[in-house]
Amino acid sequence: MEVALRKVKGQLGQSYPLVIGGEKITTERLIKSINPGDTDQLVGTVSQADQALAEQAMTAATKTFETWRFVDAQARAGYLFKAAAVMRRRKFEFASWLVYEVGKNWGEADADVAEAIDFMEFYGREMIRYAEPQPLVALDGEDNRLTYIPLGVGVVIPPWNFPLAIMAGMTCAALVSGNTVILKPASTSPIIAAKFVELMEEIGLPAGVINFVPGSGGEIGDFLVDHNSTRFISFTGSREVGLRINERIAKQAPGQKWMKRLVAEMGGKDAVVVDASADAEEAATAIVQSAFGFQGQKCSAGSRAIVHQDLYDEVLEKVIAKTKALRVGLAEENAPIGPVIDASAYHKILEYISIGKGEGRLVAGGEKAEGNGYYIQPTVIADCSEDAKIMHDEIFGPVLAVCKATDYKHAIDIFNNTEYGLTGAFLSNNREHLEYARDNMHCGNLYFNRKCTGALVGVHPFGGFNMSGTDSKAGGRDYLMLFTQAKLVSEKF
Ligand code: NAP
Repeated sequence: MEVALRKVKGQLGQSYPLVIGGEKITTERLIKSINPGDTDQLVGTVSQADQALAEQAMTAATKTFETWRFVDAQARAGYLFKAAAVMRRRKFEFASWLVYEVGKNWGEADADVAEAIDFMEFYGREMIRYAEPQPLVALDGEDNRLTYIPLGVGVVIPPWNFPLAIMAGMTCAALVSGNTVILKPASTSPIIAAKFVELMEEIGLPAGVINFVPGSGGEIGDFLVDHNSTRFISFTGSREVGLRINERIAKQAPGQKWMKRLVAEMGGKDAVVVDASADAEEAATAIVQSAFGFQGQKCSAGSRAIVHQDLYDEVLEKVIAKTKALRVGLAEENAPIGPVIDASAYHKILEYISIGKGEGRLVAGGEKAEGNGYYIQPTVIADCSEDAKIMHDEIFGPVLAVCKATDYKHAIDIFNNTEYGLTGAFLSNNREHLEYARDNMHCGNLYFNRKCTGALVGVHPFGGFNMSGTDSKAGGRDYLMLFTQAKLVSEKF
């Protein structure tokens, strides 16, 4: 990792073009990517698409679809297997880009790259499975076949918080299913996306299958979403933007021949719930890992801890001690807690901390932290009421709200008292209570006796309920269905 960090450091500050139909295009307007942990360090710049270039990308993607959709599924999968193999060989290098661009510590960065590799392997194999003959009831005198065919041009809009894994996963699922893609990366993490696009070119993916158009969400996002050639949108990000896209796609644009499909994975207000029978030490570890991994900037982050009154003081004391032991510093030096992503997140999180101070008892952190970047101390606010604002709003930073419950059913009621429904954890040694939690904790990914972050591709298909999105279950067997449509051909003999 040290060697890779040095190598990547030597490559910081470079410029990356748009890639449209295989053509590299540079623009005068650039998006700057800054290291959030050292704001004097330029990670790189990317060219910035305007609506005219977005239109050009749409034309290229539409044209390429006419050939790419007929490429054999096995061959399409082959591109992903090859890309996965190359990424695996260059794992530390990709991880280093994540360290500099978004402030992930080494472990978090490694997990992000590993997940990207897993997505490529998994979706490649899934496409081969989807391409197998599908079981139908036999009818004498007819040959019936059902195949999963692609949809068309998809606009892929990923977030910055898993800027390799989620970006690559969303893009690869769409293209391996036979669609062509317009990839608009998040504006705070375009360099790692540019590196991924370079890799896909290097492994020989045909030009025009991925069209890389960094640009502002406000400026080209609406334009691409509204476009009459857009067949589907694969979005991961905030609830606000997800709902905006959902509303816009409901309208038929002039010349549009289909209902647009939306796969939207959005925010969370996830929680670790601790029953009286749980082990206090294990519970505190799960709470702290869930709350502060990657500075709490995961959709699955356990930003609430709901603890049975019998164990409350003991668990809280341990949570405070573990939180205070977390060092804040440079991701490059592998500090457990790095920076938050940018100035606007920094101010928003500090604002929530001041709200939290009025809503509960500040027991750890509560301030910004030293450093030439967006550093905030991991913060714990205890004794929150279930109605507190910090128990409901997605803060997306290192802020944990702790709430006391009178019994396990009350704890689960508090857990469910949110508009979101992404992840949750329940810690208990009581079988009856675990089974009650299985039936009553309403979230897409529920974990027992472990933290609520860290879903593994293929093992824990991922996606949430309610305002957390469309429950697409990324990394699961149903996922590619979302990027295909089933066609039945019946031939009478
Ligand atoms: P965001 O602000 O919603 O941005 C996500 C993407 O949407 C970015 O590429 C952004 O581009 C783009 N965008 C902004 N406005 C747009 C518009 N009008 N039309 C089309 N696209 C537009 O979210 P974020 O801050 O990157 O990510 C954090 C959020 O993602 C959190 O809420 C987190 O919970 C959620 N998340 C969910 C999951 C999940 O699986 N459920 C996983 C990861 C993250 P710009 O960067 O150019 O603005």
